[in-house]
Amino acid sequence: MSASQNITLLGATGSIGGSTLDILSRHPDRYRLFAVSGYRRMKALAEICHTFQPVYAVVPDDSAAEHLRSQISELKTEVLVGEDALERVAEAPEADIVVAAIVGAAGLLPALAAVKAGKRILLANKEALVMSGQLFMDQVKRSGAELLPIDSEHNAIFQCLPAQGTHFDDQSLPSSGVRQILLTASGGPFRGFSVDQLVGVTPEQAVAHPNWSMGQKISVDSATLMNKGLELIEACWLFSVQPDAIQVVVHPESIVHSMVSYNDGSVMAQLGNPDMRTPIAYGLAWPERIDAGVKSLDLFQVAQLNFEQADEVAFPCLALARQAFILGGTAPAILNAANEVAVEAFLANHINFEQIPEMCRYALDHISVENADSLEAILACDQKTRTICRSHLEHLSMHRVKAQ
Ligand code: NDP
Ligand code: MG
Repeated sequence: MSASQNITLLGATGSIGGSTLDILSRHPDRYRLFAVSGYRRMKALAEICHTFQPVYAVVPDDSAAEHLRSQISELKTEVLVGEDALERVAEAPEADIVVAAIVGAAGLLPALAAVKAGKRILLANKEALVMSGQLFMDQVKRSGAELLPIDSEHNAIFQCLPAQGTHFDDQSLPSSGVRQILLTASGGPFRGFSVDQLVGVTPEQAVAHPNWSMGQKISVDSATLMNKGLELIEACWLFSVQPDAIQVVVHPESIVHSMVSYNDGSVMAQLGNPDMRTPIAYGLAWPERIDAGVKSLDLFQVAQLNFEQADEVAFPCLALARQAFILGGTAPAILNAANEVAVEAFLANHINFEQIPEMCRYALDHISVENADSLEAILACDQKTRTICRSHLEHLSMHRVKAQ
């Protein structure tokens, strides 16, 4: 076993954060929590600090810092403030592994800082890769960072590919005899709903995922199938393939976490209970395996595995994501920002569920796509899209269709 490793956990107070902490607590000799971050949930962050006593805790502003400091005054944990501090704890020489589990575009800069510093990065924050795919992957190659996907599907694909390290180029999959990647999707809480049935579904219904317990944003993304769209883009960048090499397969039980189909007719699949501790533990210990506290899969209890086509008419987000990737440049960043604005508005009851793809389509149709070859261009596009989409919200909320 390797010597104890220092972990920077960005987004410690979230769902992925909690699953990661659970694994760390099972392996205190192997991992030490070096730095954590939280955004709004200061009470939860204080509890994490008490349990794990990290060297640093990062919070967004002075008032959060004051609040946290008052709750952990007896600890040695130093409270740092602001976005720069997120980058500093991600690139710190002491950090061996960075878990990128902040939600949304806010996670991009710290994830990139970890990449540039050549860390092992456990990537949950798919939005970072969607926004800046080319730049992100170029940096990974340049720095020699070890990028390990912990999104369950990408982790499954990684496990089903021949062992070849963490770097993939255009030839990696074809030369391994890979025919296709089969990206599984649960279908979310509205699987089987028609376009009409989706009108007026509530945020409460949308976040009630049938198989996974996750943060609110990704839960809504799972309900619209935007999550699968973002994951399609994520897979294209991670494994250096085009969208036509990826087939989305709806699999309502979420037991098969994705598959790789080979040209001799073999299909490799990774199965397991739907529990994010499995891919996180895999990423932490790779190429070794450690106990993740996850129950063995009981196939007799599962009994049946079902597979079906995705309904891209009722759930247009998947096709929009494919279109954005093919458009290239800043198109995926436009899609991502529009989706973040729309999901936030939906959760706040300002727009309808079916207006989320409408907003994304509007943004792709109205905002010009630029080269995404610099971070400045990507961040400017992100900001511009948010501004345009926020002003479009008013139009959408006036045209809400009430449920029948
Ligand atoms: P949560 O909403 O549960 O957690 C998000 C984390 O990010 C929290 O720690 C939150 O802090 C922090 N955060 C939120 N906004 C900001 C901001 N503006 N700046 C800095 N930090 C911020 O999300 P999840 O854990 O579910 O998801 C995290 C990421 O992992 C997402 O990108 C998601 O797509 C991905 N992912 C999640 C999976 C899951 O099972 N949950 C599965 C696969 C991928 P606070 O809570 O203190 O406000
Ligand atoms: Mg996933």
